[in-house]
Amino acid sequence: MQKFTKITVSIGPKSSNATILREMMLAGANAFRLNFSHDTGDVQGTKIDTIRSVARELNKPCSIIVDLQGPKHRIGDFVTEDKYKLKIGQHFIFDDNPAPGNGERVCLPHPDVMASLHVGDRILLNDGKLEMRVDSVRPNKIDAVVVRGDEIWSRRGFNLPDTLIDTPILTDKDKSDLEYAITKNPDWVAVSFVQKPEDIAFVRDFITARTSHQIKIIAKIERPQAIDRIEDIVQISDGIMIARGDLAVEMPFEQVPAISRKIIRTCRMYNRPVIMATQMLASMVENEFPTRAEISDVATAAYLRADSTMTSEETTVGINPVNTVGVMARILNYSDMDTLANPYDWLRIDNVPENDWSRSVSSMAHLNKVAAIVVFDRDGQTTTEISCRRPDVPIIVVCGSETIANQLCLSRGVYAIYDAELFSMRDAFGAARAFGITYGDLVIVDDRKISLRTLV
Ligand code: PEP
Repeated sequence: MQKFTKITVSIGPKSSNATILREMMLAGANAFRLNFSHDTGDVQGTKIDTIRSVARELNKPCSIIVDLQGPKHRIGDFVTEDKYKLKIGQHFIFDDNPAPGNGERVCLPHPDVMASLHVGDRILLNDGKLEMRVDSVRPNKIDAVVVRGDEIWSRRGFNLPDTLIDTPILTDKDKSDLEYAITKNPDWVAVSFVQKPEDIAFVRDFITARTSHQIKIIAKIERPQAIDRIEDIVQISDGIMIARGDLAVEMPFEQVPAISRKIIRTCRMYNRPVIMATQMLASMVENEFPTRAEISDVATAAYLRADSTMTSEETTVGINPVNTVGVMARILNYSDMDTLANPYDWLRIDNVPENDWSRSVSSMAHLNKVAAIVVFDRDGQTTTEISCRRPDVPIIVVCGSETIANQLCLSRGVYAIYDAELFSMRDAFGAARAFGITYGDLVIVDDRKISLRTLV
């Protein structure tokens, strides 16, 4: 058996060809994330086709995640310079005048944002290095005061941590990207800058109006407004990504680890897989070895029992994406095996009732020291629930649908097989043997009925 924690790999210019994809899958990649902020249309479509064909060739299921750009806001251009120097205490104007800006003003080409800002709200630019506070709000003109930092750059994105932005969750670009992506049957769609549960409901309606294919939805948690409504958002979503990049700009950064723990706990409670994302092995963009702190960050995600870790630039534009995946797998392997060897709180899942049946499955597996749990699953729900109890043995799931097997690749400790024959025969022993288990007790779950059988 391999690691329990899954690896989601962001793919980009350095990692989109079949050879690299194949090697990354062999090195431990379980899911691939396609970031529609960069490429779009057929460029992304070709990547999806290549991933599917490599996965079939290797006979390994994997998840494909389409990550939508979402309402990312940027300021306008400047006259001559790319950036201007600002002084702490100076006033700076954001207005709706499309003329190029200067050291005193710039266009803020988003009327919805203008209308949402209030006096006292923070405006953060350059990943939070430049901070301003809104001093006064007039129609089409925001007067802000610089409180930290000294440079403002043309066309940079900005963050508004204090502002509930009254903006549609899907921009026109997102809608056209999603229309296209839907035709390629991705397993998951990740929604950026979610603020409230209604955002996910909107995306679900958008998808179900266009396809009967069961595409699951991941809410990216990167805004304080989403943290305020986290339980509702987790419940309405199919999965969660802790998008620490924007989250650490919009929240005080020291709070991000505590928030991450809380999100993982909430996801386990409501049976949703959760991905820990961003800068996990960032130094490997340029280096063959991770830093000590990165090793510890990846291991911590495993010890917190997130479902998946994620790579970002280190695999999209880094010098050696295959090595990066191998390094991540090596850290996860060791940390997961250590957790299994030293169980400490594997049954303590907050607020899960004692008589919860998936908890009983995990208890039974633990008390009988079984080799594996084998599940026959039609829609993936049973397996996801058992996975969220974090049993200390592998969960082998036999699926009659390729999509379900692919989607389950994000769930911790789950090894999915798409095999219509094993599925219809209910051949639990055949499934166990496919993963190298030759003897031992198995907990078998079929249509939620639990039995204990011995493979000899
Ligand atoms: C993040 O902000 O951490 C993140 C994953 O989002 P993106 O890379 O799409 O900006």
